Order: sequence, then structure tokens, then C-alpha cells
Amino acid sequence: MKLFATLRFKILLSYVLVVLFALSVTAFFLDRSLEKHALQDLHSSIGIQAGLIAAQLDLARLEKEDTPYLDAFVTKSGRITGSRVTVVSASGRVLGDSQQSYTEILKMENHLNRPEIIKASGHEAASVTRYSHTLKKEMLYLAVPVRDGQRVAGFVRLAIPMARVKRVMSSLRRTIIFSFLISALFALATGWLVVWLTAAPFGEIISGSKRFASGDFTCRIPLRSSGELRELAETLNSMAAEISRRMREAELRRLELEAAFRDMSEAIVVTDGAGVVTRMNPRAELLMKARGMNVPGMRLTDISVVPGLAEAALKALSGGSQVSREIESEAGLVLSVIASPIKENGGVGGCVLVARDITEPRRLENMRREFVANVSHELKTPLTAIRGCAETLLNGAFEDKESGPAFARTIHEQAVRLDNLVNDILKISYAESGRAVLERSVFQLKDLAVDSVRAVKTLFEKKQIDFTEEVPGGLVVNADRDKIFQVMINLLHNAAKFSREKGSVKISAIDLGREVKVTVEDSGSGIPETHLPRIFERFYRVDKARSRELGGTGLGLSIVKHLVELHGGHAGVESVVAQGSKFWFVLPK
Ligand code: ADP
Repeated sequence: MKLFATLRFKILLSYVLVVLFALSVTAFFLDRSLEKHALQDLHSSIGIQAGLIAAQLDLARLEKEDTPYLDAFVTKSGRITGSRVTVVSASGRVLGDSQQSYTEILKMENHLNRPEIIKASGHEAASVTRYSHTLKKEMLYLAVPVRDGQRVAGFVRLAIPMARVKRVMSSLRRTIIFSFLISALFALATGWLVVWLTAAPFGEIISGSKRFASGDFTCRIPLRSSGELRELAETLNSMAAEISRRMREAELRRLELEAAFRDMSEAIVVTDGAGVVTRMNPRAELLMKARGMNVPGMRLTDISVVPGLAEAALKALSGGSQVSREIESEAGLVLSVIASPIKENGGVGGCVLVARDITEPRRLENMRREFVANVSHELKTPLTAIRGCAETLLNGAFEDKESGPAFARTIHEQAVRLDNLVNDILKISYAESGRAVLERSVFQLKDLAVDSVRAVKTLFEKKQIDFTEEVPGGLVVNADRDKIFQVMINLLHNAAKFSREKGSVKISAIDLGREVKVTVEDSGSGIPETHLPRIFERFYRVDKARSRELGGTGLGLSIVKHLVELHGGHAGVESVVAQGSKFWFVLPK
């Protein structure tokens, strides 16, 4: 800031101007009045001196023009007064002069025409300032008439050089100027002090305001002043505190929104009115395979790997209303998309595109639909058989001793099948529901293997299957025993079902450190490779008719998979057609 523009300078300048003006006016009038008084004093003092000298003068000797006497008289009077003393006769002749010798007096011209003598002829003392041709300098003359009764007998004149008067005057003026300067200096110093004290709080307020303006709201203006300035500083401080509080709140809101924008499971893309991307959240970058690209500034149509997205956004921009649709990408991704226009000044200033990946919910929905269809279908076959047999029995076969019991047996078989099916459906629904609770206990795997083999023993014996059990003793797991028992039973059942007569089945287990791997191996029909990836799916069977014939529900392996996964493990299969299958599952210990 320029010095001349500062408040301090302005206050100081006005202060100094006022003081200087007041001092100058005072000095001027003081000078004038002192000069007047000094001159008056001088005049009256030399007037008195002249009067006294005139009174001392011997009138008779003056009349006689006794020059030796008069010369001695003026010399003496001149010495006493320190002035030039001249005695002039009534006719104007100079009779004596303290600064001129006797011979010089004779040469002096008649003084009757001198202004002071002319004036003094009127019986009054008269003074005149003029140039002395005798002494060649400016002199102050004062002449008094010497009276003899009413008659003027002569004149006594006193003269002092004007230089002396001027010396007195200039000494007087010097004193005034000196006092003026001292007063001015003092005024300047006190002015500066007053200005400094008054303007200092301004400086603090200005520097505080500048810091506020630059965004630093942590500083506070010191409250050193009082009155209006203190009020101003307090107001600015509370304003800064309020702004800072609001900014913190706004920043918090921004961070919350930013976090929501960043971490939302939905993909969000914001475009301007021309479909140029302005913002995109990480989920959208992932969806559009735009990671690492400098997306803002690019057209949505240029980056959208799912064409329907850009189309929805453009439609919302051109139509000015919300567009919602489901889009299925070539990669099998199902997206639920909502494109909302951003209305701005009556027009469309941009668009917010929200895309939600609904592939998994859609898949689950399809699976559920498929499951219901499968269950209905599976239930329909035994129910149709039961109904057919029951109707036949009711229509008379009941009486027939041969076919009657056969129909009743079929009804029983189908009812057992229905029961198995419903049980398996219940098991899998329970395992999938998320409500299944594991009741863990530590148990020996070998004991479990022996128990499960005992449960399927009759099946093995029926087919004369050669059975080996190679589970090492001492291998323990912490798991839900009933559920792992169910897994073993399902695998052993399948091994028995799909083995040929006199085949072989082996159950073994190995310690993998943190996990155990249990394998059930058979020398049965095996499974063609194409079926292997889907073999653990619900109701998936390589040969439906054969499976039904063998009393299968198509849910056994799916139950195995779910129960093992419930334990944090996984199950798998290796199989070679006509050689046999190897089903295994891995459990964390
Ligand atoms: P199922 O009740 O039909 O046995 P699973 O889910 O247990 O249902 O098995 C599904 C299908 O997997 C069976 O229908 C069968 O085709 C095949 N499978 C299961 N285990 C074996 C095995 N040990 N040997 C050959 N095929 C098998």
C-alpha cells in the first residue's frame, strides 16, 4: 500500500496541517504585535531620552549658539544614550552632533527641511525612518522641540541606526521561529504517537481480514483496542469462526458424498449436456473398463463398452425425462440402468446415469424358477404313478390277487421316492437358506468313515462290492459330524449305485496340514467329461431314467457341495468313463 494512501498518513497529515496552520497564524500575529510593541517601546524610550536631553539643555547657550558647549553636551548625551544626538537651532542650523566633529558640523546643510524637524516644529515630538545622507545608512530619527515658553528655541534630535532596530526585531523573530519549530516538532511527535496508537488496531484488523480473505480462518484479530474498533474486530472474528464452521460442515458433507460416490455398489456416470463425461465413480470405471483412462472430457459413446448405457443417457438428454431400462451385455452382464436428466435454467444441462449390476439376482431368480419347475416336475412323476395305481386299484384291480399287491407295491415305492425327494429338497433348502447352523465338534475321521460304511453296508453287499477303507487313525477335524456324515452317505450311496456288480469302492483320507482331503473312489460307470462341470448342480443327472430307476433324486451331490462349502471347504470330481469316478472333498481342520 502506498504510504500516502494509508489512514495513518492521512490522519497525521491533517493533524500536522491543523497544528502548522494554528502555529503559523499565532506566529504571524505574534510577530506583528511584538514588532509593533517593540517599535512603540523604542519610540517612547528615545522620545523620553530626547525629552530629558532637551530639558538638560541650557537655553541661553542654545540661543547664543555656544557651539563648544553644545558639542560637549551632545557628545556626553550621545555616550550616555548610545544614540546619535544632534542639536539643531530654530533656524535649522546644526549646532552639535555626537557623531560629527565641530568642523564637519559647519559643512552640514540646514536641517529645517528634514521631515522629523518639520514635524517637530509643530511643538510635538516626531519620529521618521529615513536614509541619512550624512551617515550613509537607514536611521530612525526622533526630534523634540526645545521650548522657551511658547516659542521653539531649537531641536534635539536622537537617531539610532535602523540596523539596530532590525537586529532587535530579527532576534525577536528568531525566538518566534524557534518556538514555532519546537512546537511543530512536538506536535509532529505527539501527532505520530496519537496516529500510531489510533491506527495500530487498524493494521491488525487489516492483516487479520487479509488472512481471512486468503482462507486462513484459524487466526484471530487481537482485541487490544476499545469501542468501535473492538466491536469491528469481534465481528470479524465471529464471522471467521462462523465461516470456518460452515466450511468444515460443507467439507464434511462433501467428503460424505464423495465417499458414497466412490464406494457405491452402483456405477455412476455424470455427463454434461452434450454427453461428455464429467465424473465417473470407480465402479463405473470398472464396468466400462475405463480404469487408468483420463475419462473426464471423453464422450460417453466413446468409452461405453455396453452400448445401451450411452443410448439411455443420450435419450434422457434429448427427451429431458428419466429413462430406465434393463440392458444385457454380450458378456452376459445384466444391468438395471436409470438415466436422469439434470434440469438447468429450463433446459437439460447434463445427465446422471446409474447402473446396477443385477446379473447375480437375475441368475438366482432364474435358478429359483428353474428349481420350482424341476421340483414340480420331479414330484409329478411319482404322483402320477401313485394316482394311476390307486385309480386302477379302485377300478377293480384291488380284488385281483395278482396285480392288486403289485399296484400297492408301486404306490409304496413311489411314496418312498416322494419321501426321499421331499427330504432332499428340505435338506438343500435348509443348506441354502443361510439359516443352517454348524454344530461343530472334534471327531476322528476314521470313526465317521466306519459309521457311514456301516450305514450303506447292505447296498455294498447286495452288489458284492469289494470295499476298502484307508482313513488313517488319529486324523481329527472340527466340524458338524451329522452334516459330514450326510456328505459321506451321499457319496457312498452314489458309489454303490453307479458301481457294477463285484466292483470296488475305496474310501481314503489324507492330511493336507490345515485341511483334510477325503476321497471316495469307485470302479463304476464313470461320468463323461462334458457333464463334469455341472454334476454338482441341483437335479443334474447324466442319465435321468437310470438315476430314477436307482432311486436317485438328483440332489445328492448338490447337498454334498453345499454342506462342504458351509464348512468353508470345497468338493470336486475326477472321472473316466467305464473306469470309475473319484469324488473328493476338502475340509478345514
Ligand atoms: P442322484 O440322486 O441321481 O444320484 P446325485 O446328485 O447324487 O443324484 O448325482 C447326480 C448325477 O451324478 C447322477 O445322476 C449320476 O449321473 C452322476 N453320478 C453321481 N455319482 C456318481 C458315481 N459315483 N459314478 C457315476 N456317476 C455318478
